[in-house]
Amino acid sequence: MLNEMKRELERILSNARKILRNTGAATQEGRSALQIERSVNRLLGRDEQCICPECGYRFRGSGWDGIDAHWRARHESVMSYTEAWPLIKAGAYRPSGRSPLPDLFAED
Ligand SMILES: [Zn+2]
Repeated sequence: MLNEMKRELERILSNARKILRNTGAATQEGRSALQIERSVNRLLGRDEQCICPECGYRFRGSGWDGIDAHWRARHESVMSYTEAWPLIKAGAYRPSGRSPLPDLFAED
């Protein structure tokens, strides 16, 4: 039963990633997909994947390696890297002024 649920979550996760790949994180759909991915990852007890909150780019390798080059090349006009980095790291960055994404399964 538990395994079935995990499989189901994996399926949701891979669908969310597909959407994110196709639309990027800037669209409404992409933002929902990013929110689902983060929440499901947390639910599965995985480390959060490092995904650019502005465009949905997935950083490979260890952690946020390459974020500064990526940010400076693509989003420096939105916010300077020195300003954006502490927010991104804390998960508090708001893409282009939109509200942050709360965890779907957070209990408050
Ligand atoms: Zn980006």
